[in-house]
Amino acid sequence: MRLSKPVEIHGVSQALAKGNCPVCAFLRNSQSTLLQGGLHPEEVNGICNFHAWALAAAVNVTNAAKIFQNLLRPACDGSQECSFCVRLREAEQPSLGNSWGRWIGSSCSTGLHTTVALCRPHARRMRQVAPVRLHGSIDEVESRILSDLNLELENLVTRSAMGEKAGAGVLGRMAEFLMSQRGIRG
Ligand SMILES: [Zn+2]
Ligand SMILES: [Zn+2]
Repeated sequence: MRLSKPVEIHGVSQALAKGNCPVCAFLRNSQSTLLQGGLHPEEVNGICNFHAWALAAAVNVTNAAKIFQNLLRPACDGSQECSFCVRLREAEQPSLGNSWGRWIGSSCSTGLHTTVALCRPHARRMRQVAPVRLHGSIDEVESRILSDLNLELENLVTRSAMGEKAGAGVLGRMAEFLMSQRGIRG
C-alpha cells in the first residue's frame, strides 16, 4: 500500500464530495498523519500486519526506521496491541459521537440523506453513540446504500455473464460498505 500525503479535511462537505464514508475519510487522514511522524517512534510498542506494511511503504523513511528499531527492543515482544490501531480507535470515538452524528441528523432533516454514504461498521457504531432520535435516519442511510449496492451487483453479474468487462468499482464500494475503507478498522 502506498500512503497518500495527509490531506486536511476542512469539514464534512469535503469528505462528502468524495462520495465515500466520511468517517472512513476522516480516519484515513488521521492514519496517514500518524504513520508519517504523528506518532513518535517511542510511542509505538506494538504493530499489526496492515500498519507494519503501511509503514514499510511510508514516505518518511527515517521515521519508519526508528519505529521499527523501537519495535526490536526486548520490551516489545509482539504481545502489545498495535499502537496505530489504538490511536485510531481513540480518534474515532469523539468523531462518531459528536460531529458526524449531528451531520447525519441535519442531512436527514434536509433530505440530503439520499446521497449520504456511510460504511456499515461506522453506521452501526454511530447508531450506538447517537441520540435515539437519529437512529431511524442512520438506519435509512444504511438500508438505502445496501439496496443500491445490491442492484449494482446484480447488474454486474448480468453484464459479466455476457462477457462485458466493467464494474470493478462496484466491488470496491461493496468492500468499503462491508468492511470500511482499506486499513480502517471495521
Ligand atoms: Zn466508514
Ligand atoms: Zn494497526
